[in-house]
Amino acid sequence: MTGLKRHSLRMYVFLLLTATNPPFTNGQTSISKWQFGKQGAVSITYDDGSINQFRKALPIMNHLKLPATFFIITGQIPGSQYQGKFIGRPVSEIIEESSSVLTNKDNFFERASAAGFLGYRGTLAYHTRAGALYDAGKEEEAYAILDDLYQKVRNQEFLPDTGTRYGEIPADRVTWDEIRSFAAQGHEFASHTVTHPYLCALDEVNINYELEKSRDEIQRQLGPEYTFSAEIPYGTEHERAMKYAHRVFPALRNRMPEHYLVELNRASTKNPVDFTEEYVQWQRGAVARTSLPMMKSWIDTTLLKDNIWLVLVIHGVDGIGWEALSSEVLDEYFRYLKSKENHLWIATFGEVTKYMRSRMNARVQSKSQDGKITVSLTHSLDKSLYQVPLTLKTYVPGHWNEVRIKQGNEIKRIRQQLDSAGAYVLYQAYPNSEEIELTAN
Ligand SMILES: [Zn+2]
Repeated sequence: MTGLKRHSLRMYVFLLLTATNPPFTNGQTSISKWQFGKQGAVSITYDDGSINQFRKALPIMNHLKLPATFFIITGQIPGSQYQGKFIGRPVSEIIEESSSVLTNKDNFFERASAAGFLGYRGTLAYHTRAGALYDAGKEEEAYAILDDLYQKVRNQEFLPDTGTRYGEIPADRVTWDEIRSFAAQGHEFASHTVTHPYLCALDEVNINYELEKSRDEIQRQLGPEYTFSAEIPYGTEHERAMKYAHRVFPALRNRMPEHYLVELNRASTKNPVDFTEEYVQWQRGAVARTSLPMMKSWIDTTLLKDNIWLVLVIHGVDGIGWEALSSEVLDEYFRYLKSKENHLWIATFGEVTKYMRSRMNARVQSKSQDGKITVSLTHSLDKSLYQVPLTLKTYVPGHWNEVRIKQGNEIKRIRQQLDSAGAYVLYQAYPNSEEIELTAN
């Protein structure tokens, strides 16, 4: 070997050592992107509260110890204090006025809000059609639907309402008592409004009723920890709906503007692996025609990068509810998901949101002194809402095979792991609490 070659070899070894073993390693602490140091996250969400979600899908999930988020329509649950209603002028005045004034931007919201409460059967469908058009930006077409409705009402083309806005009430409905027991099993319950309207087509007072009374009902029945998440019906992202909804609920599955988060909704054809942002929320809606291999591929895709949060959206189950999936498919699918749990953090929509936001607003500092590493973890968010533990990764001296970790009165002992930068431990810590002390055990 010539002197030159020996020299460059030595240089190479030196560079390798400095690159992989920086001198500040001991005590260096970061917050894992996902809970428990997992590679990605998955949330399973159900909309509308149709009965087989609870009779068929939930037992499968409990058997596998998988949590879900259920977005429930609170006015449809027996015993709810707040039912659907129209708040405003007597509907007779609105009907009368429609004989001389066509629907326009000034009266549309009032007429669309009242549409399901005019005292006749079958009028709610006109709210839904007009709302869908308005949501899609087809405002003139939405006005025309309401002109048609109010004309038919004036012509007495509808039968009188028999008391319920929803037509046939199914014999089997989930009760608040059942919901409380499911919540105690670890499932999240969250708002899907009081009556499932097109929120963007309502006037302000009726928008607020749908949002606030649904929240109040859940708070009264389940407690404040279930008032965090919501899904505004029809997956809307309409500015008007979002503006009001964001004032009432901290987390919306519809939209959650954060500078570090890309949101790919159910209709998006973009590939989540193409994004390099800190987090990518990838919503996939499983409908009746979705094949099991396709559903499994969503999980496989989530495993390809470390920044993907797969949010599954499920509606009907076993013939009940919109676009129902069979419980056989769900059973096989959930078992496949469970088999990836070593790599994927499977948690409720609210939990993942809280983790992500806490991490992005956290400050972690550490010092290493006298054979002890001290870590402080704080965040700037509302401490009453964001109390989830975060997973910390702290580099420790190589000879600390087992590490004693103490925060307040909680002590745990954790074995070190190795990566290219050295020995480290992964552990759970509470933000805005006592400092964490690490020592060799
Ligand atoms: Zn819905």
